[in-house]
Amino acid sequence: MKIRLATVWLGGCAGCHMSFLDLDEFLIDLADAVDLVYSPVVDVKEFPENVDLCLIEGAVCNVDNLEILHKVRARSKVLVAFGDCAVTGNVPAMRNQFGIDNADNVLQRAYIENAQFNPVKPRQDGIVPALLERVLPVHEVVYVEHFLPGCPPPAARIKALVAQLLAGTEPKLEGTNLKFG
Ligand code: SF4
Repeated sequence: MKIRLATVWLGGCAGCHMSFLDLDEFLIDLADAVDLVYSPVVDVKEFPENVDLCLIEGAVCNVDNLEILHKVRARSKVLVAFGDCAVTGNVPAMRNQFGIDNADNVLQRAYIENAQFNPVKPRQDGIVPALLERVLPVHEVVYVEHFLPGCPPPAARIKALVAQLLAGTEPKLEGTNLKFG
């Protein structure tokens, strides 16, 4: 039976997913071994039940990220924090330096102080997802089985991790080039 694979895009730049697409011919091997049941690259609106393996790109930045992440955890057996934004917060977490009332300070900085024309903050009425007061790495919100660092993780590293997980072995991160052995 094929592995049910999902990939999720939270607060990230999509660079990790671009690196995933750089798997080149391994994508053909993957197509034989998995069903891609949810991803930015497939047109499925609702995160499905009974996912075997889910790669999560990006940090947790807003209420929508928080909601989908809890659903992903409840419906997935194994989660991978996919890339440095998911692992540490990385680039989106740079806004955490704006201190308490972080969300309001960030909106003030972005939409008022740095605006050249029509300074106005986005409506906070649910149409635009509200920012969290602090950007969080994925493991601060839900339990994560594996961490795949890199900005983005190189395709060879993604391949090594996914291949080991598909083979049912415990992935190992070792070596000077952070390659999986
Ligand atoms: Fe983009 Fe790097 Fe974050 Fe991946 S880890 S989403 S490449 S900034």
